[in-house]
Amino acid sequence: MRTRKNPVIFYKLILLTIFIITVSILLKGILKSKPDDKTILNPVSSKPVLNQFGFAEDSLTKHSYVVNRNETLSDILAPYHLAKTNVSEIAIASKNIFDVRKIRTGKTYHIYTADDSLMSVKYMVYEKDPVNFVIYDLNDSVRVYEGKKNVTIKKETKAATINTSLYVALEESKTDIELAIRLSQIYAWQIDFYRLQKGDKFKIIYEEEYVDSQMVGIGKVLGAYFYHNNKDFFAIPFEQDSIYQYFDENGNSLRKEFLKTPIEFARISSRYTSRRLHPILKVYRPHYGVDYAAPTGTPIRTVGDGTVVEAAYGKANGRYVKIKHNSVYTTMYLHMSGFAKGIKKGTKVKQGQVIGYVGSTGLATGPHLHFIFYINGNLVDPLKIELPPSHPIKDELKEKFEEQKFKVLNELNTEGSGEKHPA
Ligand SMILES: [Zn+2]
Repeated sequence: MRTRKNPVIFYKLILLTIFIITVSILLKGILKSKPDDKTILNPVSSKPVLNQFGFAEDSLTKHSYVVNRNETLSDILAPYHLAKTNVSEIAIASKNIFDVRKIRTGKTYHIYTADDSLMSVKYMVYEKDPVNFVIYDLNDSVRVYEGKKNVTIKKETKAATINTSLYVALEESKTDIELAIRLSQIYAWQIDFYRLQKGDKFKIIYEEEYVDSQMVGIGKVLGAYFYHNNKDFFAIPFEQDSIYQYFDENGNSLRKEFLKTPIEFARISSRYTSRRLHPILKVYRPHYGVDYAAPTGTPIRTVGDGTVVEAAYGKANGRYVKIKHNSVYTTMYLHMSGFAKGIKKGTKVKQGQVIGYVGSTGLATGPHLHFIFYINGNLVDPLKIELPPSHPIKDELKEKFEEQKFKVLNELNTEGSGEKHPA
């Protein structure tokens, strides 16, 4: 008998392989942008030349490493000699500038030692990210201060048409993953990035940030265009109410507002915390959500438009509903006494629509709603997310916006690939 491959599985495997290759190529690009120690050595000169951290290193030996897993400041400094201080003094001196307990695996640090037999440490530099660093000057007593490398900005344009998947399109246009995330956030309410279609296309004008010749990040997005579902979606940046936000060509905000609370008149009985005594389990557990105490049967509203992705019963959650608002935002509502009529997996809901009623199903001491908010799959404190209001352009700013719009649309039309979008 001949064995035959299942064509569906085969197709899925190909897609998976393309995805993995694309992500690894993109990641390689990101890793490459890590600062290279060799590039920052100074040429020999008679005067002391300051290095990129702002001190003279001519007479010192530089040791550059990456923080290993679980390594602490003491581990990092253990191989060296501290002449005028010790690790705890350094930690205390650092406290208000940088908490040394926040030293993270994978970050780069540099130890500068004197050319003596003891290898006395003169400076230590911890790089918080490719731009920001903390300097420990140990020449005399400990002096700790922060610094920032010089960042230069370059304006860039990327354009691509989706032929197979967004990932392939991103790779072909050499678009950074960070940029893809920005695009998905800007268009979160207009485009479902999991449902892009063949023939969809985008163009984006943005800033690339460089330290020396290494790209370290994406700055502002200066304008974007997306063609999806036979429709044009423009993103024109404009500052209103001191917020840099995005508008369509008619001056409407691209972002929709969420309701402030899922229950109209409720009392917050427990806040989001990474540590609290669980009322039933009697152990310290994080509380990743906000509790609203309200009588059983109080209607619960969805805070935004979306699709019900789960309406089910769980041992801890009780009766709960999970709503995906778009590819960025998802919310969840727990301990319901019952679902509202028609609420099941796949149901489309409108902002403010009642989806269920307060109860105490699952692990709950009394009737309350446990409300959870996710951004890009990460739990966030619903009371702390700052989503500015989504007002359209104000009358008094309309003229200024029109000027900006004209400029951005013009650039989207003419920059980069020269590809024209359908007007
Ligand atoms: Zn809760």
